[in-house]
Amino acid sequence: MNTPLISFLLQPETALMLDIDGVLAPYEFGELCHSACPDEEWERFVREQDPYGHMRPVGLIQRMIAQKGAERVYACSVAADYEAAGKRDFVLRHYGLPASHVRIVATKADKLAFLEEVRAALGLPEERVALIEDTMGTLNLVYERTGFTTVRVSSLFAFDE
Ligand SMILES: [Mg+2]
Repeated sequence: MNTPLISFLLQPETALMLDIDGVLAPYEFGELCHSACPDEEWERFVREQDPYGHMRPVGLIQRMIAQKGAERVYACSVAADYEAAGKRDFVLRHYGLPASHVRIVATKADKLAFLEEVRAALGLPEERVALIEDTMGTLNLVYERTGFTTVRVSSLFAFDE
């Protein structure tokens, strides 16, 4: 049986806003470590190695989206120009979202603006739009300033297939 939170997320009315790095795209660039790329080398790594072209998707989230339907599932990520196309293509290739549901933004504030844009377009109360993130700072900010539902990615592990 699903937890009350998972059941809420799966309800057709609820809109989901999934973060990309650390949620839809796992960090596992090393062989047996979560990452093998220091921040200062990230740009060169992306330009030369195309990591989003090789990443695997998260099966559990794919199956959640398949069960829920993608009509109200969105993805959003803060990204630099050089990584934007790779991220967008990764999400479109693996998660079956409409292209208009994937938004690459420049700042965390823009991410909040996209949450609000989706809420307004669907005519939903804030609570019915759930931000699913791995970064606590972003979750805390949204929780403190808005009424959107906030979900740490690990809560999805409770999805009962
Ligand atoms: Mg993240």
